[in-house]
This record gives sequence, structure tokens and C-alpha cells, in this order.
Amino acid sequence: MDTEKILEVDHVSFKYDKEWVVRDVDLSIDKGQFLGLVGPNGSGKSTLIKLMLGLVKPDEGNIRLFGSKLRHFNKWQEVGFVSQKANSFNSGFPATVLEVVKTGLVSRIGAFRFFNRKHKEKAIEALRVVEMEEYAYDSIGELSGGQQQRVFIARALVSDPSLLILDEPTVGVDAKHVTDFYDLLAKLNSEQGISLLMVTHDIGTITEHATHVVCMNKTVHFHGASEEYKEFDDEALNRLYGHSVQQLTHNYQHEENQL
Ligand code: ADP
Repeated sequence: MDTEKILEVDHVSFKYDKEWVVRDVDLSIDKGQFLGLVGPNGSGKSTLIKLMLGLVKPDEGNIRLFGSKLRHFNKWQEVGFVSQKANSFNSGFPATVLEVVKTGLVSRIGAFRFFNRKHKEKAIEALRVVEMEEYAYDSIGELSGGQQQRVFIARALVSDPSLLILDEPTVGVDAKHVTDFYDLLAKLNSEQGISLLMVTHDIGTITEHATHVVCMNKTVHFHGASEEYKEFDDEALNRLYGHSVQQLTHNYQHEENQL
């Protein structure tokens, strides 16, 4: 039996202006995979996510979600998205945790309709999955970065997606809570069968958790199982990337410290 393809990126290129930002990128996610998308800053990772979500259009190539070409795809409730820095609400932001999670249902209920009891139950259930139920009526801005991150995952889960895309989700999360965060992703992946795509520039950590890795710098330099990636030697990476893994990890830690 053929493996079910959740996402297919086929020879995709894109430029904002004159310069190619994404060049001839090929990758795919099969049902059940947890794909880590890694690369240095400015390597086109976030742009590739925008292309996958249909927010910008490829200049060349095609993208398919659940077998449908992106321009025909209309089951957006199947795709949960947690954007970069979603977890940076200041205290005083006028929304409760529950209200934030319910906004994840807006596309399902349509504009100019009201949330009902079932929507509220759905939101509470999503908060239960991320173990944040007890904070439902707290103000979102009062929570820590890691807690806000969980709330935004609940917001993405509330429409029962089959694919969850996360852009740099560990930025702003306390180092001691990053392990809990990966445990949550493992639970979503193995218990709920949600396929995952996580963007990060933390090469060191992602290979310990993702089943597969794509390493890109405008174009794809490696696409394979995490086990193979670990054997992809530093010298090869150095040639492809212009940096060693140690240097990239160092840069990442340096940026983290600057935040
Ligand atoms: P990454 O997520 O890997 O850090 P990005 O996709 O954000 O990389 O950026 C890739 C390149 O595209 C960078 O050179 C960046 O400056 C440029 N870029 C990103 N967004 C825009 C934009 N909206 N307009 C013009 N250039 C952009």
C-alpha cells in the first residue's frame, strides 16, 4: 500500500524581489512523520512555510496538501499552524486563554456567527491535551513564554488538524521547559497520529526528536531520516552550509541569549 502523502513540495522556487530566497526545493511529509526543517538564519525556512500555507505563491513548482494542489485545497481545518513568536503577549493583553483558543475555530464557524457551548467544550478539550486547562480563564499575557506556546498549540489543535506546522516554537521557551515541549509533540505525534513539521535552527536538539530532517539553505542539502542526518558528517555540512554544526549551534545559542 502506498504511504499517504500529507505534504509535497515539488521543485519550488520563490523570490520576493530579484534574488531567489527558495530555490528548487523538493520535500515531502508522509502520514505520521515528524519532520524537522533546519537551516541558518535567512535560509528561507519561514518563506517556505508561507509557501506551504498559500500565503505567497511559488514562482516555479507546485505544492500539494493531502494530495490536492494548493490552489484547489480548501480543508484548512486539517492544517494547524503555530507562528513564530506567537508566545510573546505582554501582560495586560485583553484576552483570556480560552478566548485565544476559540479563535482557532473562527474559520470553522464562519464570520458573523457566535461561539456556542460545543465550541467552548472543544477549546477546553484542546487545553486539556496541552495540560493548560486550569489556566482557561487567566489572561494570556500573564503566562510564561512556554505556557503561551502551549496555548497556541491548543489553538492550532482545536480544529482537529492532521498536520501541525510550528515555526521556531522553542524560541522564548525556558530551557528547562523545552523537554516538556518535545514530550507534548511526541504525544501529539504518536497518540493522536498528527504529522508534524517543525522549523528550527537548533540542529542539535531536533535530531533527537524528529523522525526526519530537511536541512536547507535556499535549497535542500539533506532530506532523510534523523538517524542518517546524525551520520551526515560535519565536514560535508561545512562544505554545504559554509558553517560547521558546532558553529550553527553556537550561533543559535548566542541568538537565544540575545533575546
Ligand atoms: P529563515 O526563516 O530561514 O530565517 P526567511 O524565510 O525569513 O528565512 O528569509 C529568507 C530571506 O528572505 C532573507 O534574506 C530575508 O531577509 C528575506 N525576506 C524574508 N521576508 C521578506 C519579505 N517579506 N520581503 C523581502 N524579503 C524578505
